[in-house]
Amino acid sequence: MTRFNPREQIREMSGYHSPQVDVPVRLNTNESPFAPPTDWVQSIGAIAQSIDWNRYPDRAAAELCEAIARRHGVNPNQVFVANGSNEVIQTILLAYGGAGRTVATFEPTYQMYAQIARVTGAEVVEGERRADLTLDPMEIERLVVRHSPAVTFLCNPNNPTGLVEPRENLEALLEVASGIVVVDEAYAEFADWSAMELVSEDKPIAVTRTFSKTLSMAALRVGYVVGPTWFINDLRIASLPYHLDAFKQAATIAALQYTAEMEQRVAIIKSERGRIESTMRDLGVHVWPSGSNFVLFRTTDADAKNVWASLLRQGVLVRDCSSWPRLEGCLRVTVGTEAENSAFLAALAVALAE
Ligand code: PMP
Repeated sequence: MTRFNPREQIREMSGYHSPQVDVPVRLNTNESPFAPPTDWVQSIGAIAQSIDWNRYPDRAAAELCEAIARRHGVNPNQVFVANGSNEVIQTILLAYGGAGRTVATFEPTYQMYAQIARVTGAEVVEGERRADLTLDPMEIERLVVRHSPAVTFLCNPNNPTGLVEPRENLEALLEVASGIVVVDEAYAEFADWSAMELVSEDKPIAVTRTFSKTLSMAALRVGYVVGPTWFINDLRIASLPYHLDAFKQAATIAALQYTAEMEQRVAIIKSERGRIESTMRDLGVHVWPSGSNFVLFRTTDADAKNVWASLLRQGVLVRDCSSWPRLEGCLRVTVGTEAENSAFLAALAVALAE
């Protein structure tokens, strides 16, 4: 029956799962706890009715690329949009990864880089972070000089650690990089610097963003990348025709009117994040300082799996990272609404006392 087996790379993988459990407080996937602006939600019906449903959408999503380009002060030819930044990453790896090529990550980081790279047949080389989960620029140099990866991923702020990557680390990477450097800025609005201003036609750097986090539209599935025109052209070749449906293009253009309003919400999340971090420290939990909308923590005395299960029994779902390499004893909580965060903190106090 071997001919019915998938490719070797797929056979060796288990997939990427974050359990979707129906509990009152879901703090496991780093979404925004807030609904999108009401005006946008109310405009959706009219947008849907304006679509020529019998026609294929604009294949190049030109108007949408223009709107995003205006947001960042770049050229529309420097923008590629896809169904979530995961699909952006996939398209990058279809174009630049693949068999016989190497993709570099610095672990622990967002698991989809390695997962998608392997799906395309590329070899993944992993750099190591220090014990405190910060990244040494010497390690960047070592990995990149040794392997000359076709693609290197840097996630700022990094998921799942929440740590902001120092700008010097990107500079160190750009000095030695031989391939494309992808800076994943899924959580950019929470960090104190962005690599967006470094994008130019003569640098091999591309910056990815998403509508799923700060912009509160995870259900819409939109993400994009800003990079040099030659790189964006390669992504257009690797992507499927009409991959962005007409409704999504129109709804996203409309959503871009509300980015300022959405960014105002970042301050609320940051202040709640501060409350979560300090309360957890008071409970004796080790917390990594987060520059994002989630917090990684290690329960020093209690077994993380028991804490996770106890939280779930109490109706609070967080991410169990404890079986991931290098993250023994670690859980990750997304910053939710004030009420959700209070429910989490109360449940955590109970879980630690059990
Ligand atoms: N990058 C990072 C670092 C993420 O944490 C996520 C979401 N978990 C993504 C990319 C993908 O987001 P989306 O596909 O929803 O844009």
